[in-house]
Amino acid sequence: MNLVMFGPPGSGKGTQAKRLQEQEGWPQLSTGDMLRAAIAAGTELGKKCKSIMDAGELVPDEVVIGIISQRYDEPDCAHGAIFDGFPRTIPQAQALDQMLKSRDKKIDLVIELKVDDKVLIDRVKARIAQSGGAVRADDTPETLQNRLNVYYQNTAPLLEYYQKQGKLVTVDGMAPIDAVTAAIAAVIEKAGHKGCLGIG
Ligand code: AMP
Repeated sequence: MNLVMFGPPGSGKGTQAKRLQEQEGWPQLSTGDMLRAAIAAGTELGKKCKSIMDAGELVPDEVVIGIISQRYDEPDCAHGAIFDGFPRTIPQAQALDQMLKSRDKKIDLVIELKVDDKVLIDRVKARIAQSGGAVRADDTPETLQNRLNVYYQNTAPLLEYYQKQGKLVTVDGMAPIDAVTAAIAAVIEKAGHKGCLGIG
């Protein structure tokens, strides 16, 4: 199954995608993690993206489309994948649909984690208080506000894009973390999808 984990920055997409990977076997493809790995490795791509990411802006569509296509062709994605933080724009969603179509695949389900802005801001403040400072350069209340603006302007329109395709299911992302995990599992089961642990 190919699933998009959707939601604003800090909504818990990454955490839930990781849990789903562990429980069901579909690999989590996080463009944010891939870009941070490129920065840590000091690649040209990483150098190009660092200041954009630190400011909470989006890196160019062709960059993320390129890294996702390459990653999706690795053997562990043969039974599908969990897209986390991608797509973030309509052109990215269209490119993803095309990329999958050319491989006889499709997006099966889009799960939106719904979380109010105020809760997202409170979560950032709590993370900073807990760790004595921002762990990620873009994880500050100021940058989060910009990332939220970017989200509403560029990414939120995807909700309608996927709703029109009949693929969107919304889950309460403000529920306790285990309850969110359970709600996601229930959505996937209801849609008739089975995990791929132990397959091929
Ligand atoms: P994330 O870890 O998903 O919050 O991503 C961290 C940052 O990486 C974002 O704020 C963007 O600067 C960049 N990024 C990650 N995924 C994408 C994407 N699909 N399109 C554009 N920029 C992205």
